[in-house]
Amino acid sequence: MESTYDVVIVGTGLAGLATALRLADHRSILLVDKQSLGAGASDWAQGGIAAVVDPHDSIEAHVNDTLIAGAGLCDAAATRYIIEHGAEAIQWLIDQGVAFTPDSAHELGFHLTREGGHSTRRIFHAADSTGHVIQQTLREKVRAHANITLLEQHMAVDLIIQEGRCVGLYLQSILNGPVTAISARQVVLANGGAGKVYLYTTNPDCATGDGVAMAWRAGCRIANMEFIQFHPTCLYHPYAKSFLISEAVRGEGGLLKLPPSAGAESGRRFMPDHDERAELAPRDIVARSIDYEMKRLGIDYVHLDVSHLPASFLHEHFPTISARCQEFGIDITTQPIPVVPAAHYTCGGIVTDTSGRTDVPGLYAAGEVGCTGLHGANRLASNSLLECVVIGRAVANDILDREPPAVIPAVPWDDSRVRDSAEDVVIAHNWDELRRCMWNYVGVVRTTKRLERAQRRIEMLREEINEYYASFHVTRDLLELRNLVDVAGLIVASALSRHESRGLHYSLDWPDTLARAVPTVMAPRGLPGTPGHRPHIAAPVRAA
Ligand SMILES: Cc1cc2nc3c(=O)[nH]c(=O)nc-3n(C[C@H](O)[C@H](O)[C@H](O)COP(=O)(O)OP(=O)(O)OC[C@H]3O[C@@H](n4cnc5c(N)ncnc54)[C@H](O)[C@@H]3O)c2cc1C
Repeated sequence: MESTYDVVIVGTGLAGLATALRLADHRSILLVDKQSLGAGASDWAQGGIAAVVDPHDSIEAHVNDTLIAGAGLCDAAATRYIIEHGAEAIQWLIDQGVAFTPDSAHELGFHLTREGGHSTRRIFHAADSTGHVIQQTLREKVRAHANITLLEQHMAVDLIIQEGRCVGLYLQSILNGPVTAISARQVVLANGGAGKVYLYTTNPDCATGDGVAMAWRAGCRIANMEFIQFHPTCLYHPYAKSFLISEAVRGEGGLLKLPPSAGAESGRRFMPDHDERAELAPRDIVARSIDYEMKRLGIDYVHLDVSHLPASFLHEHFPTISARCQEFGIDITTQPIPVVPAAHYTCGGIVTDTSGRTDVPGLYAAGEVGCTGLHGANRLASNSLLECVVIGRAVANDILDREPPAVIPAVPWDDSRVRDSAEDVVIAHNWDELRRCMWNYVGVVRTTKRLERAQRRIEMLREEINEYYASFHVTRDLLELRNLVDVAGLIVASALSRHESRGLHYSLDWPDTLARAVPTVMAPRGLPGTPGHRPHIAAPVRAA
């Protein structure tokens, strides 16, 4: 590793790889990941990537579907830009060698699926492991490129802001090595979402909101953080981390029932009480109904029952789900599956334009970490992989179109006043407390009282964590916890400032949807180093 690169990219999900591959013929790239290459959510994406390629489809129809899902809060221009670049994104992936599922009967030669909210078939996929196939193909390209230095097991700690722009970042080896300052002409944040801020999530362990927290501390505006998409059915088991039970299970006849802990109501099917479409109601309604029943009865999970369907059908249609459940001793042909709603997608993030530019010169963001305005108050299925490719490549184009800024030597990391901690157990406790607090008080259904309770607890946790950060050598757990507490604060402050229910944000105290949709924008006060800078959330500024 050198100490200076043209561009440092944080994160090797689809957004990071798309950016790196577009830039690498022209710039020296340092590509960093705190895990291994491509270990993020991109690899886990099952369904596919949406784009208008079929001549019978239209840009208007895809834009319209996205705006409807986004409940009035999408940025219309950004939505159109991303969708208009969909065909180019698919072509680029095909050119890289991605093998989408073929269909010789279709005039395009590819099989297109349709998902909830899409008015037609427009989802390119690779069976049910689209993300893995894409990532596997791009990973090989990245490893083979001479201009890309790949640094795995290294965590971005913070951005370095000098002379009013981003001039690099601090990196730490996950093995708790020293923190190193890296100088760069430009830095790209592509570090994914923040699902780990909740107790239950479908996201991988790396989804700790590091990018949002770093950008916030560096002076960027952060938007729409109250819109967290919850997947209604994640496997509930003490040893099963983040295993999603596909919505297709309900589509094929799975029934949601109350578990034995519901006492006299045990075994009762409850979805018909909530919506006439019962188990086939949209994702957010099912998640909200499960949450309602769990809170009403004080139960930890509900049951998803498919045992009435033929065993051969279940094994044929859901081989992965039945095998995974079996690993945990659940035979889905005879037993119900315990499930909970789980945080799935962070719709908000770092405010960027359609070139991925943030408020801080020299700093870009792409993928789930950013907020272009595409997802509004609710993400349309399969639009996120699309955004990763389109914005990742747009970031690269913007960097290539500009005169490269001069390298400014970054100030070295100073930890001369800290020592090793003797009580790391505090970090584990605070992780747990924060995630439970978010799950209990800032979940699918919200009230002002619960949000205020969460805010008080988060503030106390923040003080404790910041004191810890100022006193001890940093570790991955401590850094992630510090980021999570910042992200939690942003989610709660955003939720409290929205006096309506819209899309994924549902408040019992503000059940109506206002006529005018306004994004929630949290603005730190000025850039670091400028008078009045205060990157804390205690008094957020809500800008129109
Ligand atoms: C189970 C599941 C299924 C999904 N299915 C679909 C689907 O079918 N279609 C669709 O469009 N979307 C889907 N999504 C959403 C989609 O996968 C993600 O939004 C998208 O892949 C995010 O890509 P990304 O490049 O922004 O981040 P990621 O792919 O999450 O990559 C982020 C990377 O950054 C690294 N990183 C994070 N912080 C740091 C740090 N501080 N220092 C260094 N490295 C860091 C991580 O280790 C990780 O490798 C799904 C999500 C999940 C969880």
